[in-house]
Amino acid sequence: MTGIAVLGSTNMDLVAYVAHAPKRGETVTGREFRTIPGGKGANQAVAAARAGGDVAMIGAVGSDDFGVRLRRTLVSSGVDDDLLRTAEGPSGTAHIVVDDEGGNSIVVIPGANGTVTSLVPGDEALIATADTLLLQLELPLTAVLGGAEAARRHGVRTVLTPAPAQPLPPELLAVTDLLVPNEHEAATLSGIADPPAAAEALLRQVPEVVITLGSAGSLYARRGAEPLTVPAPHVTAVDTTAAGDTFVGALAVALGEGRPVQQALIWASAAAALCVQRPGASTSMPYRTEIDAS
Ligand code: ATP
Repeated sequence: MTGIAVLGSTNMDLVAYVAHAPKRGETVTGREFRTIPGGKGANQAVAAARAGGDVAMIGAVGSDDFGVRLRRTLVSSGVDDDLLRTAEGPSGTAHIVVDDEGGNSIVVIPGANGTVTSLVPGDEALIATADTLLLQLELPLTAVLGGAEAARRHGVRTVLTPAPAQPLPPELLAVTDLLVPNEHEAATLSGIADPPAAAEALLRQVPEVVITLGSAGSLYARRGAEPLTVPAPHVTAVDTTAAGDTFVGALAVALGEGRPVQQALIWASAAAALCVQRPGASTSMPYRTEIDAS
């Protein structure tokens, strides 16, 4: 029995910290380099497992050293990796330049993630045992759609994080139960910058929406109900990387346990607030005991 299945990406983040990012043709000397396991799928899987969920990951790592480390990161957080393939070739990588003002530029090379174009035998059986399937947009859309349709066939709740932001095919939204965009993604999908109005527009395509609003918290909207705003705890943020993924992972756990939506959102906000107070991505995600104690 798997409570939460994640169909998504694994990436090694290759991060260069520099005073200012190089312009075209320019070479700059940076301050520091780190390799940080990431990818939105893997981040959500780790967040949900640390929050106490029973989590399995579907996707692919490459046959390189990064793949070994990406798999190990998932397993050491308690994620079931039986359906995480090792594809011949490189793992997914994200090449990130972070400057002193906290701005960043990123090149993502999908690598092994690009080989996940559809479900393979075993995937649907696993999804069928879950109560929730977490999806993002860092795998080929054909696989994301296939996963969401499989979940719908088995009555499994689908939670889609529409990142990276892009217009979505209506058939994917038609099999999405809960859409969790950030403000920017909500604007891209709806064409509306104002979050409450964007949420209202998105409800024409999906039954439930949570728009995350960074330090301003989150906005929950459901068809036929008054929207709900949940403030974020006041904390000093040192690194907001993976805050959204931590929020989604914890939210899925709380909803899967049958907690009322407002309580689940407050608990997910507490988890994300812990994440932003620490540097790193998956390394900064809190465990259940920490979330309960905060
Ligand atoms: P990321 O891409 O960094 O993972 P995101 O853009 O997907 O994040 P955000 O809306 O920035 O998502 O943040 C997700 C949630 O994390 C927010 O709804 C909030 O609960 C929490 N959060 C983010 N930033 C802060 C902050 N500065 N203080 C407290 N909570 C925060």
